[in-house]
Amino acid sequence: MPAWDYDIVIVGAGPAGLTAGIYAGRARLKTLLVEKLIHGGQVMTTDLVENYPGFPEGITGFELSDRMRKQADRFGLAFHTGEILDLEPGDGYHLLRLEGQELKAGAVIIASGAGYRKLGVPGEKEFTGKGVSYCATCDGALYRGETIAVIGGGDTALTDTLFLCRFAEKIHLIHRRDAFRGEKILQEQVKAQEKVEIHWDTVVHAIQGQEAVEALELRNVKTGEVSLLPVAGVFIFVGVTPNTAWLKGRVAMDEWGFIFTDPEMATSIPGIFAAGDVRSKLLRQISTAVGDGATAAFAAEHYLAQHHPR
Ligand code: NAP
Repeated sequence: MPAWDYDIVIVGAGPAGLTAGIYAGRARLKTLLVEKLIHGGQVMTTDLVENYPGFPEGITGFELSDRMRKQADRFGLAFHTGEILDLEPGDGYHLLRLEGQELKAGAVIIASGAGYRKLGVPGEKEFTGKGVSYCATCDGALYRGETIAVIGGGDTALTDTLFLCRFAEKIHLIHRRDAFRGEKILQEQVKAQEKVEIHWDTVVHAIQGQEAVEALELRNVKTGEVSLLPVAGVFIFVGVTPNTAWLKGRVAMDEWGFIFTDPEMATSIPGIFAAGDVRSKLLRQISTAVGDGATAAFAAEHYLAQHHPR
């Protein structure tokens, strides 16, 4: 009998975690996936996923993750809703602490993903939910016929600007440089939108309002010109930050807190693997998360066979 409760515990039910669950289930390993919220991760807030292969017309983030979840169910993956508070690495097994509960795992796959990065300007915190949003799918429809702003120049800012064109009358897209970071095809689509006015080389200094957002204080970084832009809402898409605070630095991470892995998804601690957006890597996409998840499960299976043969 193994000394643990589960062969593998997976932390996080985004595309990386769910894929790891599908592969671990098919390998007939006793596997538990722990998720603190709802399955899907960041994908759930994506309106239309257009670059995941196999869906030429695109697929909603909700449907894609729902399908992944059903597929994992089919191969016997067990789910638990809860928050992992600590991971204590050990020789025989790794110990995961939840509120009032401990789990022993032969191997762990960390797929806890990443969350929205904050802008860190005055007014952002006070007006979150009162005009400041990080989710176009969730809040876009609130701004039907309104003038709004989008901050950022990556794939998220561009994709969500296109989505917000369905509702808003006018969108001010504010980017701190004079070139976008996001995909060229998205850049073309955004530039073709009459509703969108791009403010290059511009940063937000503060978000102003009484009860809710009313205006943005802007500064042009090249000319130094300061201006006030009246808006009913502002969507902030300035990148992602890893969900790794709970690990308290127990595995090696880069300067931003993304986890270092080798090509087989192994972290600095034997038997602990990481997959998806939480990893230090070049490209954070559903397609790369899925590949990471499959590799991590396969590597964990081999680790268990080598170090803890039954
Ligand atoms: P991102 O690619 O890191 O882009 C963040 C954007 O915000 C950049 O344009 C950056 O400007 C800007 N920014 C960062 N900090 C800022 C600050 N303090 N003030 C003003 N602007 C700031 O983040 P993302 O767009 O959220 O995308 C995250 C990952 O998800 C990426 O790998 C992306 O490819 C992926 N993703 C893909 C899709 C898709 O394929 N359809 C959709 C969404 C997300 P600089 O350019 O000057 O650094």
